[in-house]
Amino acid sequence: MAARYEVTATKYRPKTFDELAGQEFVVSTIKNSLKNGHVANAYLFSGPRGCGKTSAARILARSLNCEKGHEAEPCGAEDACDNCRAISQGSSMDVIEIDGASNNSVNDVRQIKDEVLFPPQAGRYKVYIIDEVHMLSSGAFNALLKTIEEPPPYICFIFATTELHKVPATIKSRCQQFNFRLIPVETIQEILKKICGDSGIKAENDALFWIARESTGSMRDALTLLDQVISFSGGNIRSELIREKLGIAGLEKLNALADACALNDAPSAFAITDEILSSGVDIERLIIDLTGYYRSLLLIKNGIVKESLLGYRPELFSAKPLETLDSIRLEQAMDLLLACYRDVRYSVSPRFDLENVISKLAWLSKWVSPVEMKEAINNARDVLTLPAGSVRPAEQQRSSGAQNSAKGAGAAASNQSAVSRNDQTAADIADNIKLSSKGSFSLSNAFDLISKGAAVDDPLSDDDGEAPMWESEIKKDKTETENHVQVEQVLSMIPGTVVS
Ligand SMILES: [Zn+2]
Repeated sequence: MAARYEVTATKYRPKTFDELAGQEFVVSTIKNSLKNGHVANAYLFSGPRGCGKTSAARILARSLNCEKGHEAEPCGAEDACDNCRAISQGSSMDVIEIDGASNNSVNDVRQIKDEVLFPPQAGRYKVYIIDEVHMLSSGAFNALLKTIEEPPPYICFIFATTELHKVPATIKSRCQQFNFRLIPVETIQEILKKICGDSGIKAENDALFWIARESTGSMRDALTLLDQVISFSGGNIRSELIREKLGIAGLEKLNALADACALNDAPSAFAITDEILSSGVDIERLIIDLTGYYRSLLLIKNGIVKESLLGYRPELFSAKPLETLDSIRLEQAMDLLLACYRDVRYSVSPRFDLENVISKLAWLSKWVSPVEMKEAINNARDVLTLPAGSVRPAEQQRSSGAQNSAKGAGAAASNQSAVSRNDQTAADIADNIKLSSKGSFSLSNAFDLISKGAAVDDPLSDDDGEAPMWESEIKKDKTETENHVQVEQVLSMIPGTVVS
């Protein structure tokens, strides 16, 4: 039974333009031009792998040579004419498929140039399909130019590439270009459903959705994965079985892991990670799934509820991380995980990298972004650099006597004590920002901390109960220069801050 399904990708290769999934714009344009009898010298199909470029090239070749005549659609799978059948089977002498990756030299192209002089044998057109055309050498491209521009009337070139930017502009400008897009998840899911229905296989919708999502827009990947799943499902495709057999963490486990991280519970987070890895989930797989998980949270946080984007219905995601983490923290989680994925292939032990990230995720709510830090610093700078003698509205109500007494006390204060106090201030701020057990850092907290720190030992703070502390910290006893020194010391504590 398994053998019968091994070739799903080949068996369900589209035979007509209408069967080509997810490329409506390409299909309608090509069909229209064929109907009007416009056949280009050369076509250039570009787009991600597995989205139907080669299939479209073969369908076009069939249209050009179909015995029904110059029709927009060639014969279908049933009752195909001789030409269409030969092309499908790869036995047509008039349709030559060349792999650009392995036939990329000038000599290979010269051979093509010699061959095009001989007209087609059975069909109306001799069609050259060159896959991965971007792999041709620049010499080969140059040799090809003239032939593409002025080929014999019975010649048609169809180039396919996954890397359009590597195709020289001189080639592009001589081709009719079509950009193929990734196939939407829903479209792939529908096709998988139909295939399962046709083959008498029972399949859970969730399971098919997972396969469709996993194939990231590539029909070929989806069909290959379907084959794999069918091979161990025995005619009944279930999500649970897929998770078990293919080593996938599953949403419940990811929810549990994200919950532990959101609660700053590193021990549990490590334990759950170990549990997931012990169940056979590959480390890279877990990093990908976890990245996808935090991505979904970020999307939900931004009001997106579309299941095809999130991977699951939004209500299935745990509420805890959504409560404790805002967009900035979620972006950071993704940054950490994406960097981890890039790093694991060079790592002494991928598991160490992953655990390092898990540990960081477990205190994510306390993480502060550079932008927030900069804002906080700028606010602090505003407070601390207020010129001596300038008066805030609240201070206008103060008695001038208080100011005078401050001046007297301040004049005696030595630079030495100011510096040590400032060191202490800066250290306190840094400690509080990094280690605050109260949870998330806020701008007003930082503002408060910096001003409170600066107010330590302030004689004013004792004798003026009405004014908030941060208002009293503007040292009436200090010159503007001293305030600048203080600010710059605070700034120098913050990594990456440039003191202007
Ligand atoms: Zn035909």
